[in-house]
Amino acid sequence: MAQTTTPSPSTDDPSPSTDDATPAPPAAGVPANAPDLARPTHAGPLATAQSQLAGAIERLGYDAGMHAMLATPRREVNVAIPLRRDDGSTELFHGFRVQHNVSRGPGKGGLRYHPSVDVDEVRALAMWMTWKCAVVELPYGGAKGGVAIDPRNYSQAELERVTRRYTSEIMPIIGPERDIMAPDIGTDDQTMAWVMDTYSVNQGYTIPGVVTGKPLEVGGSLGRATATSRGVVHATRAAIGEQGLSLADVRVAVQGFGKVGSHAADFFGDAGARVEAVSDQYGGVYRSGGLDVPRLLAHVRETGSVVGFAGSEPMDNADLLTLDVDVLVPAAVEGVITDVNADQVKARWVVEAANGPTTARADALLAERGVVVVPDILANAGGVIVSYFEWVQAQQAYWWTEAEIEQRLEERMIHAYDAVAQVARREKVALRDAALLLSVQRVAMAHKTRGLYP
Ligand code: GLU
Repeated sequence: MAQTTTPSPSTDDPSPSTDDATPAPPAAGVPANAPDLARPTHAGPLATAQSQLAGAIERLGYDAGMHAMLATPRREVNVAIPLRRDDGSTELFHGFRVQHNVSRGPGKGGLRYHPSVDVDEVRALAMWMTWKCAVVELPYGGAKGGVAIDPRNYSQAELERVTRRYTSEIMPIIGPERDIMAPDIGTDDQTMAWVMDTYSVNQGYTIPGVVTGKPLEVGGSLGRATATSRGVVHATRAAIGEQGLSLADVRVAVQGFGKVGSHAADFFGDAGARVEAVSDQYGGVYRSGGLDVPRLLAHVRETGSVVGFAGSEPMDNADLLTLDVDVLVPAAVEGVITDVNADQVKARWVVEAANGPTTARADALLAERGVVVVPDILANAGGVIVSYFEWVQAQQAYWWTEAEIEQRLEERMIHAYDAVAQVARREKVALRDAALLLSVQRVAMAHKTRGLYP
């Protein structure tokens, strides 16, 4: 697996200097001098993220010191969040903010509310944000936040109190030049408005740049709500285009029908693709020849789920992942394509709208079978690209049109895809490995160029 050459992906990404080119130890695990927190302790998202990093470090020939630096979050805050419930009782939640790397700019990344959030998941998601921002050349590092809560079980007023308390606990480490939050699973534009308000009230003036993914009324950007999904469609178009196909030629299955999956299905349908199956947490639906996505969206608005959509057959999540389609789009959570089902995936392309949906072992199995995986850090980068546009607009107090945003989003997605595909061809590696080579090298070069203080 080790490559003897180091990639020099573009002129603005110089190859590593000779210091960096010290051969890495043959076993590309986490280096011995990395602190314990960088060690994967279970086969969850952090193990996947660490294994991906180890592969890139080995190919780039970086030494153990650089590996330890990139494997370890720069800063982590772990907070307890007491909530006064509407009925007067009290409940306690655990929350985290992890800044994985800030060598290329302020931390950037979402805030997740989900019952399975733990610090290792947040560490993995923060690391992926570092690579994601680097691969699409945004001037940011990577960060992520999370609160272990199931937002479906709490009222809006309770969620507001949780959000404001969480924000106030992590206040010293966030800010428009320090670390900028955005929505993720279980949070939305309203959550971001509460974060912005809490931060602004405490600073004494309005600071819209502390979060992105805000409502339009308080400095949000046109196009942000659908940006991740649009980016997924651009990435898919680019990937299948390499084989001379267009979206009108492919059948698509979308796993997860939340903010990202539902809009992606809609845009796929608009572009002429046949969206044959979609699923959500309650179940899935299938229709040979393609579902009528606008009608399905209306059904979801009415009933809260895709289940029972007229004219479709029921399909469970597991069967959707192994359905005979051309493009599989996992758009829910981490670790859904594993060594248990990777062998049965029939799609030729897996386009990762979710973060970390494919485990490291599943990735290897898919690669062996020639399945092309468009990796999360590239495929779902549309969201953070338009977050960047929102932040730039807020900093300048000058707002762009939706057409400008969509055009710039597409340009950046296609540019990043082409750069990654070029490295993949030159190095004869999968798109994920190429994306990681590019991004890890960009972060390492920023780190080296800045030098170590003191
Ligand atoms: N939560 C999204 C992601 O995982 C968006 C992050 C952002 O816009 O900062 O990419």
